[in-house]
Amino acid sequence: MKNKKKLIFANLKMNLNSNSLNKLIDDFLAKELSFEDVDVIFAPPVIYLNEIRKKNKNKNFMLAAQNVFYEDSGAYTGEISPLMLRDVGCEWVMIGHSERRIHTLETNEMINKKIISSSKHNLNIIFCVGESYEERRNGKTYEVISDQLKRGLRDINEKQLRNIVIGYEPVWVIGSGEAANLKDIDEVHTFIDKQLNIMYPESSIEPKIVYGGSVNNNNISDIMKIQNVDGVLVGNASLDTNKFCDIVITVGNLND
Ligand code: PEP
Repeated sequence: MKNKKKLIFANLKMNLNSNSLNKLIDDFLAKELSFEDVDVIFAPPVIYLNEIRKKNKNKNFMLAAQNVFYEDSGAYTGEISPLMLRDVGCEWVMIGHSERRIHTLETNEMINKKIISSSKHNLNIIFCVGESYEERRNGKTYEVISDQLKRGLRDINEKQLRNIVIGYEPVWVIGSGEAANLKDIDEVHTFIDKQLNIMYPESSIEPKIVYGGSVNNNNISDIMKIQNVDGVLVGNASLDTNKFCDIVITVGNLND
């Protein structure tokens, strides 16, 4: 069973600096948005997690890291562990984003280790999957996504699904300014839902599935009407407080 809470992730990527990020969060807080059925999760560059957490006195949002390493501590120069994320009050972690798969050559096996380790330390996980343009053009979308799901969730049991959300992000659509068409989103979300049922036939937990890829204040309403869309991942539009707040308001009002 899924609860009806919708999730809105702001993936700020490697953007902003201390001043501009603080301003973005201040502007967001000044709008005093609060919807019972919507959770907002900001994913700033990891170096700013702690200072942003301190601004969040009234728990208006949650925090996500954009990446994590799979060991708890040790000689892994430059890496950040799940324990460290917990230590600075970070509740969520994004794992498997296509930009990491492409630019840092993250494999399904590494992603799987990160999911296992983050789950062990009770982080909520948004596990990103999605096909490239070429894969879609060659009719490989379902094969690729099914493979990403199976390999990413290897050794993850039913109980651990409780803390996992799937993010469907068609790779070519990210940052393009134009979201995938509604029919494609609908079909892939339905496919992911079915795949998870096949992988976890005994599970009473159905992970939420959120869509990401050029979501903005104009297309959010149509995207959220799709049956298996439980929220969105917002990249570019999350850098503009007005657009991002419009998205949150639209989703908040859809639940009325
Ligand atoms: C993302 O990369 O997670 C994303 C959703 O980006 P954009 O909204 O800019 O397509």
